[in-house]
Amino acid sequence: MASVLVIGEVDGGSLTAGTAELLGAATRLSADLGGGVACALIGAGVTGAADAAIAAGADTVYVAEHEGLAQYQTETYVPVAAAIAKQDGPKVVLLGQTSVGRDLAPRLATRLESAAAMDALSIEVEGDRVKATRSSYGGNARQVVTVRTDPQVITVRAKSQDPLAEDAGRSGTVETVAVELTEAKATLSGKDQAESEGVKLEDAEIVISGGRGLGAPEAFADLERLAGVVGGAVGASRAACDLGWYPPSQQVGLTGTVVSPTLYVAIAISGASQHMAGCGGAKNIVAINKDPEANIFRFSRFGIVDDYKKVLPALEEELKKAFG
Ligand SMILES: Cc1cc2nc3c(=O)[nH]c(=O)nc-3n(C[C@H](O)[C@H](O)[C@H](O)COP(=O)(O)OP(=O)(O)OC[C@H]3O[C@@H](n4cnc5c(N)ncnc54)[C@H](O)[C@@H]3O)c2cc1C
Repeated sequence: MASVLVIGEVDGGSLTAGTAELLGAATRLSADLGGGVACALIGAGVTGAADAAIAAGADTVYVAEHEGLAQYQTETYVPVAAAIAKQDGPKVVLLGQTSVGRDLAPRLATRLESAAAMDALSIEVEGDRVKATRSSYGGNARQVVTVRTDPQVITVRAKSQDPLAEDAGRSGTVETVAVELTEAKATLSGKDQAESEGVKLEDAEIVISGGRGLGAPEAFADLERLAGVVGGAVGASRAACDLGWYPPSQQVGLTGTVVSPTLYVAIAISGASQHMAGCGGAKNIVAINKDPEANIFRFSRFGIVDDYKKVLPALEEELKKAFG
């Protein structure tokens, strides 16, 4: 029995960075809760990621490998995850705040006759409970949630937790789980993958985002060049996406992608609460806005009050020197 069970995710045969972060968090929680760390890998082609899960902190890896689990589907995944959780009997179950975790966590919690706390930005142990701090009211308030029943199911936002240093010498146990596939009433006929080149928005350490104040879609080419210099990704406000200036897949915010980079550069973005809900977790925000009263300056570590057209060439020069 582990004190913390991580429901891991595997992409293209490799453990996702988010799962390594969860295993890092699970290791820290388990030091206070007493007990080990387990990781469940559910899917097709996930067995090969078991060693990586051990190297990232798992003591036990439950592998549920089945062709019928190749794509995430609620009906097929929930019973498998619930069976693993019942077998292991953890105090806490951690999932990523991903499309899988968001769907799976509340259903899994219900199956286990417990409750789920969603989208934690920080987690800490108090007694035998885990306090999950999450953002609410579009990023304007913080809420601390504690699940009173066990297991405490919690989803955690990407990049909010540090992974452990990978240790290929760690030992752990791999247990194969027999999968009895539930017949899904719905069938998945296909999956459209949004095409994007370079670093993925949610994985980027540096995000350069543009808003309606850019004035024209062509300005995003300048942001892409800037992102190229620093090895970052380009994001956009919903206003810019709604105008058709940039693909909706790159929208940052409440109804877009949530990013937590080390550096978030907000260019000609007002800083509406719905936008901040998507970037408020960034370690450093730098804002460029011609309006000194713009809301974004309340959240930014550094602010430049000027027309972005004047600022960008100088910024690009300096970044080329620093990153070139
Ligand atoms: C239910 C709901 C969900 C939403 N979800 C999201 C979401 O996920 N993401 C999101 O972004 N928004 C979201 N919104 C919309 C949000 O409320 C704002 O309308 C939006 O974020 C504004 O985008 P913006 O800052 O680009 O545009 P604006 O608010 O128009 O701001 C433009 C900024 O550019 C500055 N500016 C103008 N010209 C220049 C210049 N030359 N140089 C420098 N600065 C300049 C202006 O001073 C201004 O601050 C949502 C709204 C609702 C109601």
